[in-house]
Amino acid sequence: MSNIKHQVVVIGGGTGGIMVTAQLLRARKNLDVAIIEPSETHPYQPAWTLVGGGLMKKSQTIRPEARQIPKRAKWIKEYVETINPDNNEVVLKNGDTITYEYLIAAPGIQINLDGIEGLKETFGKNGVCSNYVDPDYTWEVLQNFKSGTGLFTQPTTPIKCPGAPQKIMYLTADYLQMHNRTKDTNLVFATPGTVIFGTEPFKTELKRYANDVYDIAQRYGYKLVKIDGDKKEAHYERINLPEGANPHVVNDDNNKINETQEGDRYIIKFDMMHLAPPQSAPSWFQQTKLANPDGPNKGWMAVDENTLQSRFYPNVFGVGDVTDLPTARTGAAIRKQAPTIVKNLLSIMDGKEADYKGYDGYSSCPLVMSHNRMLLAEFKYGAVRSSDPLLTKFFDTGKASYPMWLMKRYMLPFLYWNAMLKGYQF
Ligand SMILES: Cc1cc2nc3c(=O)[nH]c(=O)nc-3n(C[C@H](O)[C@H](O)[C@H](O)COP(=O)(O)OP(=O)(O)OC[C@H]3O[C@@H](n4cnc5c(N)ncnc54)[C@H](O)[C@@H]3O)c2cc1C
Repeated sequence: MSNIKHQVVVIGGGTGGIMVTAQLLRARKNLDVAIIEPSETHPYQPAWTLVGGGLMKKSQTIRPEARQIPKRAKWIKEYVETINPDNNEVVLKNGDTITYEYLIAAPGIQINLDGIEGLKETFGKNGVCSNYVDPDYTWEVLQNFKSGTGLFTQPTTPIKCPGAPQKIMYLTADYLQMHNRTKDTNLVFATPGTVIFGTEPFKTELKRYANDVYDIAQRYGYKLVKIDGDKKEAHYERINLPEGANPHVVNDDNNKINETQEGDRYIIKFDMMHLAPPQSAPSWFQQTKLANPDGPNKGWMAVDENTLQSRFYPNVFGVGDVTDLPTARTGAAIRKQAPTIVKNLLSIMDGKEADYKGYDGYSSCPLVMSHNRMLLAEFKYGAVRSSDPLLTKFFDTGKASYPMWLMKRYMLPFLYWNAMLKGYQF
C-alpha cells in the first residue's frame, strides 16, 4: 500500500477522461497528470449501433488503451474504490491512495441488468439483446428475426445516447425491407417518454420514418417492469400522460402487435427485443461526496451546468456520462465540455476563478435511419436546436441523407481516434 501524489488526477480513461487530459496537456505541457483506468482496451461506443446492424465488426471499434493515454500522462491501471474529497484523495482497489491537487471525474455510467425483473436471467438469450452490452448478439438476433414482433424499448432511468434505442430499430426496419420480411414482421417502439424526439425538425423527420417509411407501432408512457424470457413477454405499466401529449398508442389502431392487458399490466409478446438496460452512476461513485445526496439527480455527480466544476468541491470537475447535466449523455457532448473544463482548471491553477461558462448543454445524436441514411440532431439545454452553422451551410442535417451517413460511418470514427482523443479542438 502506498501513497502517491499527482497534481491532476483523472478518474476514467474513456471518452471524457482521455479528451480532457489530452487537451490539458496540449495547453500546458509540464502538468503532472495521472489517469486511473483499469481497462486494457478503449471502445468507440457510438459505432456499436453499426455493429448491431451488421454494418461494422466489433473488433473495428476497439483499440488498445495504451495508445489512447496521452504520452505525458501517467497511467495507473487500477479501479478506484472511493474518493475522499475532504482529504483530496482517491483510494484504489489495491489499497493505494492517490492524493491530488485537482481531480477530474469521468468514470462513465453503470449498466444495471438487475434493474428490471427478469432481465438478468434472459439477457443475451431468447432474442433479448442490447447494443449497450453486446452488439454482436443484436446482429445475430436481427438476422434470425424472420416473423413476429420486434420490440424496441428503453427504461425510465437516464441512459447514455438516448437515441441509440431508436437507431437500431430503424436499422432493423431497413434490414427487414431489404430482405422482404416486412409481410411477416411488425415493429413496436415502447418508451416511457412522451415524444419520439424532443427537438424540431428532427422530430418531424423521425415521425415520418416511424409512421410512413417503416410503419412502426408506437407506445408512449410505457414503463417496462418485467421481462419473461421463456414466454418472450415484456410487461409494462402505463404512466399518465400530460394533456396534449401523444396518446399511449400511436400508429397501431388495430393492435397489429397483439398487445394484451392483465390488470394494470400491458403485455407485448416479442420475437426480438432490443433494449437499453437501466443505467446509473457507478455504485461506488454514488457513495462519494461528489454525488448528489438526494433529489431527482441522486447519485449523479453534482456539477455546475456551464462551468462543469463540482458544486461541492472547487478543485474538482466532472465530465461525461457520470454528471447530472440536463442534456443527452453523449461523446459529442463531451467534445464541447472538455474545453470548458480545461479553461476553468487552468484558471484556478493560476489563482483565478473557474468562471468560464463555456458549456451550453450541447449534445448531438447521429440518428442512423438505414444502411445509408443518417440525420444529425444537434441541440443544447432546453432541447433547442443547435446545429453546426458550417455543416448546415452545405447539408440539411435535419433530413436523413447519404452524406450524413458517410460522416457517421467514416468521418466521426476517424475524428474520434485521431483528433478528439489527441486533444485537438474543432
Ligand atoms: C450503443 C451506444 C451508442 C452510442 N452512440 C453515440 C453516438 O452516436 N454519438 C455520441 O456522441 N455518443 C454515443 N454514445 C455515448 C458515448 O459513447 C458516451 O456518452 C461516452 O463514451 C461517455 O464517455 P465517458 O468518458 O463519460 O464514459 P466512458 O467512455 O464509458 O468511460 C468511462 C471509463 O471509466 C472507467 N471506469 C469505470 N469505473 C472505474 C473505476 N472504478 N475506476 C477507474 N476507472 C473506471 C471505465 O473503464 C471507462 O473506461 C453511445 C453509447 C452506446 C453504448
